[in-house]
Amino acid sequence: MLRTVILAASRSTRVERLVATAPFSRDVVRRFVAGAKTDDALRATRELVDDGLAVTLDNLGEDTVTGEQANATRDEYLALLRMLAEATLTPAAEVSVKLSALGQGFDEQLAYHNARAICAAAEAAGTTVTLDMEDHTTTDSTLDILAKLRKDHPSTGAVLQAYLRRTESDCRELAAAGSRVRLCKGAYREPESVAYQSARDVDRSYVRCLNILMSGDGYPMLATHDPRLIAIGEDRARWFDRDPDRFEFQMLYGIRPEEQARLVGEGYTVRTYLPYGDDWYGYLMRRLAERPANLAFFARALVSRK
Ligand SMILES: Cc1cc2nc3c(=O)[nH]c(=O)nc-3n(C[C@H](O)[C@H](O)[C@H](O)COP(=O)(O)OP(=O)(O)OC[C@H]3O[C@@H](n4cnc5c(N)ncnc54)[C@H](O)[C@@H]3O)c2cc1C
Repeated sequence: MLRTVILAASRSTRVERLVATAPFSRDVVRRFVAGAKTDDALRATRELVDDGLAVTLDNLGEDTVTGEQANATRDEYLALLRMLAEATLTPAAEVSVKLSALGQGFDEQLAYHNARAICAAAEAAGTTVTLDMEDHTTTDSTLDILAKLRKDHPSTGAVLQAYLRRTESDCRELAAAGSRVRLCKGAYREPESVAYQSARDVDRSYVRCLNILMSGDGYPMLATHDPRLIAIGEDRARWFDRDPDRFEFQMLYGIRPEEQARLVGEGYTVRTYLPYGDDWYGYLMRRLAERPANLAFFARALVSRK
């Protein structure tokens, strides 16, 4: 029911106008999104880097339906990477890319070629790319494209979602030397046939996957705001003798900033996921619609800065 209402709102230009102009929305957006322009993203990146954080930048937008849109997204990333290098914000800042924004939904080859161009630009800029993971229908395609990209750009990062039943096995596959893997719970609404449904099962899967990655040879990136999982991550880092340069924590921009600062203070590497771009309305609404639990997630963030 809630999901239907949010989805309906996400398609309504009237609601969009209303939300976009409401003072409350401006506060929410400012809290979670760097701004509309590349310059806003650079400014926010500079502030985070000055605070000792690493950053991964996401140009908002997904599910493009034309080659022109996909190529425009690619070009925005190429420009962003040039500007990050010029501002000496690399390697502290890297980029996160959604293959659906590069054409994956209608032309996998186009998405691959666009992603390859971004990986080459990232390498020239002295940094890396992480491929965001979208809904489960794209997992195989995304991992196939990742494998092809890694032939020339081995530092390209993957994202695995603990809520998927397949993920433990994917973690084993990807826990190899040099392999950067972001582990998150997963943000999409998925059927029981492929995904754990209860928070408890997802958390347990997260811990099993975390153990595989932290005991493996790759570079784990633990993306979560969950205090229990962060504590387990810290524990496993000690247990498996992982120095702060051999794994990292990741959190979203605007969520638990004090916890991000605490971890930096403890000497850990913490990377903030920083979205920017015009498409913020869709970004916030889709997050809510994909998983209504995220409504509480955003609401909590508004009342708590812990
Ligand atoms: C860096 C990063 C990248 C991501 N990339 C992807 C991706 O590519 N694909 C994908 O599907 N998903 C991605 N996600 C989203 C992810 O899958 C989850 O939907 C999202 O992170 C919420 O899960 P959680 O682990 O924070 O735990 P939740 O279950 O949302 O929260 C667990 C606990 O964390 C604490 N907490 C959470 N939020 C707050 C808050 N605002 N204030 C105070 N305490 C809070 C609370 O104690 C809460 O009970 C990413 C998340 C991050 C952080």
